[in-house]
Amino acid sequence: MKHHTIIATDQRTDNTIELSTVPSKINIGLSACLAGHEVRYNGGHTQSRLCLDILSQHFTYKTFCPEVAAGFSTPRPTMRLTGNPNKPKLSFTTDDPVDLTNQLTDGFKDKLAQFESLDGYILMKNSPSCGLSRIKVYQENGYPHETKVSGLFANALQKQYPLMPIEEEGRLHDAKLFENFVLRVYAYHHFRTDVLATPSMGNLIGFHSRYKYVLMAHDQNAYKSLGQLLGKAKKPDMTVLVNRYFERFMLALSKPASKKNHTNTLLHILGYLRKSIPSQARQNIADVIIKYNQGVLPLITPLTLLKHYLDQYGSAYIRNQRYLAPYPESLGLANQL
Ligand code: SF4
Repeated sequence: MKHHTIIATDQRTDNTIELSTVPSKINIGLSACLAGHEVRYNGGHTQSRLCLDILSQHFTYKTFCPEVAAGFSTPRPTMRLTGNPNKPKLSFTTDDPVDLTNQLTDGFKDKLAQFESLDGYILMKNSPSCGLSRIKVYQENGYPHETKVSGLFANALQKQYPLMPIEEEGRLHDAKLFENFVLRVYAYHHFRTDVLATPSMGNLIGFHSRYKYVLMAHDQNAYKSLGQLLGKAKKPDMTVLVNRYFERFMLALSKPASKKNHTNTLLHILGYLRKSIPSQARQNIADVIIKYNQGVLPLITPLTLLKHYLDQYGSAYIRNQRYLAPYPESLGLANQL
């Protein structure tokens, strides 16, 4: 994957400095019907404008329809899950009792390995194959079991890639969930390229350091415990350490950051300007942070203000914090928070 290096000028020294590198595009998986492919049971699609018009500026898609891969025709009768929610079976919703589970799973099981290079996956909701959650499992009495499950493909995908950010397209219309998904996709990508590609203590510590404030905004305890995990590691087995870190790191990011935690994080970052800008300017920034906390201003306002001053007066350490640019600014995600 091509990476673009962002170069900035250190205004105190006039030297150019490397702030960070970002990939030109991130590869993620997408249910084929969301890409506009006519693969649904009725021969239609469920094209997603959000995926095709907005995210496609930064993501490239590997599209896949597990039902078509399994040889089901298009159009085809609708399908549903039945039986034990712990081991649901796939069948047509017609009276035909034939068990289609193996046909579907045999159709995608050899394909799962192809998704190894992806940094995330967006699935179509309500499908007995692709639905990530809340899929009904029908009982003999014709009513669904109270336990809802994942579709069969979504379940297998999650098992094969438990740390990969996977989300339903429908949930991405919620601004907080959308931001959290995109942030996790980039964090997953950064970990894979910055640490997993060449695992070393130095790379892991560098990654942890750059993600300090992202972690602080999501889960302060996780930031501390991950730091302790690295601090305690004497002559570590790097594979074990890296995997343990990655698991806890992705778990910490799994929920959107709260307004309260963002506020604390912004105030911490403001502390880096203590010696370099006049107290009145610092007070003005603090006032903007409080207005964000009160819901009067969006997150982008204090972030932009802080970045403005940090670009001039901040150290390379603080300027390179992923928190200040966790994903492309053009997505406008911090405008909605
Ligand atoms: S939801 Fe999944 S299985 Fe159904 S048409 Fe879309 S890609 Fe195919």
